[in-house]
Amino acid sequence: MEEETIFSQIIDKKKPAEIIFEDEEVIAFKDINPQAPVHVLIVPRKPIPKLTDADESDTAILGKMVMVARQIAKDFGLDEDGFRLLLNEGKNGGQTIYHLHFHLLGGRRLMWPPG
Ligand code: 5GP
Repeated sequence: MEEETIFSQIIDKKKPAEIIFEDEEVIAFKDINPQAPVHVLIVPRKPIPKLTDADESDTAILGKMVMVARQIAKDFGLDEDGFRLLLNEGKNGGQTIYHLHFHLLGGRRLMWPPG
């Protein structure tokens, strides 16, 4: 059995979050410690810990997450100036919560390389 993460608590409404989108497959909410004026996490309800734990059957959900991020970016008016959509994987990627998620960051000029 997989360990319950903070994100599964948010999905199950056991923990509050500023939810900006949800349907039967995907939920998106504001990051509690925002690194940009817009910082939204896009999370599948299915508790896939890391991208490398996903398999072929997750192809549609991963595509859906990208399309949800696209719509949120447009809704927040980020489509003109741009934004960053990223995934931190494992120790070297800086992942802290082992429930797959994308970060959508925007509203300011972001640095590259990220360090
Ligand atoms: P990771 O480091 O795993 O890529 O990203 C985890 C993100 O979750 C971090 O940006 C962190 O600020 C955010 N986070 C951690 N705990 C909570 C929480 O309880 N609520 C929300 N909304 N975000 C959280």
